[in-house]
Amino acid sequence: MSETRQRKHLQKRESSTEDEFEHEDTMSTPHAVPIVLAGEDHSFKLDEDALKRVLMRDEIKDRYVVVVSVAGAFRHGKSFLLDFFLRYMSAKYVLKQNTSEWIGSEDAPLEGFSWKGGSERDTTGILMWSEVFLTELVTGEKVAVVLLDTQGTWDSKSTVKECATIFALSTMLSSVQIYNLSSNIQEDDLQHLQLFTEYGRLALADSGKTPFQRLQFLVRDWRFPYEAPYGAVGGQQILEKRLEVNEHQHTELQSLRKHIRSCFMEIACFLMPHPGIKVATSPTFDGRLGEIDSEFKDNLKILVPMLLAPENLVLKRINGDKVKVRDFVQYFKSYMQIYEGNDLPEPKSMLVATAEANNLAAVADAKDVYVSMMEDVCGGTKPYLNTETIESEHRKVKDKAIQQFTKKKKMGGEEFSQTYKEQLEKDIEETFAQFKAHNESKNIFKSARTPAVFFILAVL
Ligand code: GDP
Ligand code: MG
Repeated sequence: MSETRQRKHLQKRESSTEDEFEHEDTMSTPHAVPIVLAGEDHSFKLDEDALKRVLMRDEIKDRYVVVVSVAGAFRHGKSFLLDFFLRYMSAKYVLKQNTSEWIGSEDAPLEGFSWKGGSERDTTGILMWSEVFLTELVTGEKVAVVLLDTQGTWDSKSTVKECATIFALSTMLSSVQIYNLSSNIQEDDLQHLQLFTEYGRLALADSGKTPFQRLQFLVRDWRFPYEAPYGAVGGQQILEKRLEVNEHQHTELQSLRKHIRSCFMEIACFLMPHPGIKVATSPTFDGRLGEIDSEFKDNLKILVPMLLAPENLVLKRINGDKVKVRDFVQYFKSYMQIYEGNDLPEPKSMLVATAEANNLAAVADAKDVYVSMMEDVCGGTKPYLNTETIESEHRKVKDKAIQQFTKKKKMGGEEFSQTYKEQLEKDIEETFAQFKAHNESKNIFKSARTPAVFFILAVL
């Protein structure tokens, strides 16, 4: 297997200077792109241009999206793990190797998302891998897989809101939320899910659909393999215990547990062994496999395909519907808006933002229907149509587009959707004006009325 090819493929920003990097084509050298950044005042900013540069490419934007995000406390090996995801993705979906050797060679440094943070804290935010992986599901659907790394600390009061925001965004945006934890699942780890249980309850009441897809607890440095074995089976045992409801618990703890289950289609847990002393403490460790405990590597070989093999990929769904990459961009924007304020948003406003993006996606789809049907009637290569014909075609096609919008199940209810329907009608009328102007330009009789053409005709 071509280790060098794979290494080259994953070559990262350390190898280029800051300046070079800024002007680099998003496609050329895969790298981590900061998408959500924390400002000085602990507010967040979405780099919409960067997001669009990664996602709104022709070969990507119309595919269904799978979003894998890793969240959890600082310095617990999230980025380190993601770099093994990158090795797998690159071997499987770029180099199309069907081998278990994806994990790499013994002496190759681990590259990708930067993982050697030292004691300095990274800025809080969300990073997206610039390379979006393309594949097909067993069902034949063409999908794009997006990897997200989150950064946060949970270490001081001023950053609690920051971290909660990042955790919230990660949950809202992903189809697979990997909740990375150190040594066990503790009560406060579950409490971070509290906000979503309320959001989930509202979303369920609104649409009857489970809001999120997969929640994967990942416990690092599990120390009790004799109690519950490493891997998914042991993980399931621990998870059942932690999510168990009994009458000795405070009612709040009971309802938290009940609601967590109703928010996710699937909840799983995986127990990882300690990676070995070099990984945890050596300042010169560069991520090479040769210095990682074999038990850790064996479990990586199980965990990574369990999450990322084509048959295990989970599509992002909102309101039960699969989400296309371009709609995902819209959701991202709507969600960011609710986290711009100084307080953590209410579950209610999270629901409104979801309903808003959901309606906007329906508007965009309906408008696409209008544009593509009108292209067939009076697009660039089509002959000139007289005003009456083009107007009657427009009315027919507009009706179809509006019908498609109305038919689509949307969140927020009838009244909420009315505004978006009006927006759609307005957009369609504007687009029609452009089609009409273009159509007029094909009318040789009209252009013939200009003096210059008259002159030419007279000379002839
Ligand atoms: P992040 O802040 O969660 O992204 O953590 P990093 O991926 O940057 O890793 C932080 C440190 O933890 C690095 O020095 C890694 O070598 C080390 N590390 C990676 N995985 C593990 C693990 O499973 N257990 C332990 N104890 N350390 C790990
Ligand atoms: Mg990190």
